[in-house]
Amino acid sequence: MRQVRLLAVAPRPFDDELLSCWHWRVANHYSTSPQQVESWISGSRGGQNQNFFSCDFHPDRDRTRLWALACRIRKPDLDRLSLQSAGRPKSSFVSDPMNRGVCPVCFDGDAEEGRDHYCRRSWACVEAVLCPRHGIGLEIYCAGCFRSGLFQFRQTPAGVARLFCRHCDTVVSARRFQRRRQADLVHVAPLIGEAIGKGGLELDRIATASRFLWLPTREGMP
Ligand SMILES: [Zn+2]
Ligand SMILES: [Zn+2]
Repeated sequence: MRQVRLLAVAPRPFDDELLSCWHWRVANHYSTSPQQVESWISGSRGGQNQNFFSCDFHPDRDRTRLWALACRIRKPDLDRLSLQSAGRPKSSFVSDPMNRGVCPVCFDGDAEEGRDHYCRRSWACVEAVLCPRHGIGLEIYCAGCFRSGLFQFRQTPAGVARLFCRHCDTVVSARRFQRRRQADLVHVAPLIGEAIGKGGLELDRIATASRFLWLPTREGMP
């Protein structure tokens, strides 16, 4: 068995964290990418050019074992972080990370608690348009410059990971202005989640309504 290199510093995963997010937080401590961390701990050269977001759906057993050993974490504790363990079909998750929203109030809470920002698994569900905890819309746009695109983990001088807008270099936060609480919608997402879990007629009706509502217009946009 090949020797696994140990990482000197590796943050513990949070119970409700997305697996790919944890990989990025670990890599962030070394100012590099998860691919490069994996190459280093496995002793392989040149990186393996793997799509780390696919690990949320199809975690490779050997790779998960490698990360668990290098970070001194139990493998089952990493297996739990993948979306595969949610018992829902892959189609019930937003597959493109660029289209997964985040809750800036949750991030402000992370900062107040002195921990890293981290992405919650529940935010990847197709019905998750709101943060269930704060009742505000999940955001894929930067509230500062209004540009979209994947937010980026960066290390602060205090040694904690924060998500930044890669365009205007500001931390993702709700402190600039108050978000509107969308109380009515808070009740809808759990109903859709329940229908996805059960399947059947209710899910068919929701799928039909969704196809109608997101039907492209002549301009090409839903
Ligand atoms: Zn929240
Ligand atoms: Zn921005």
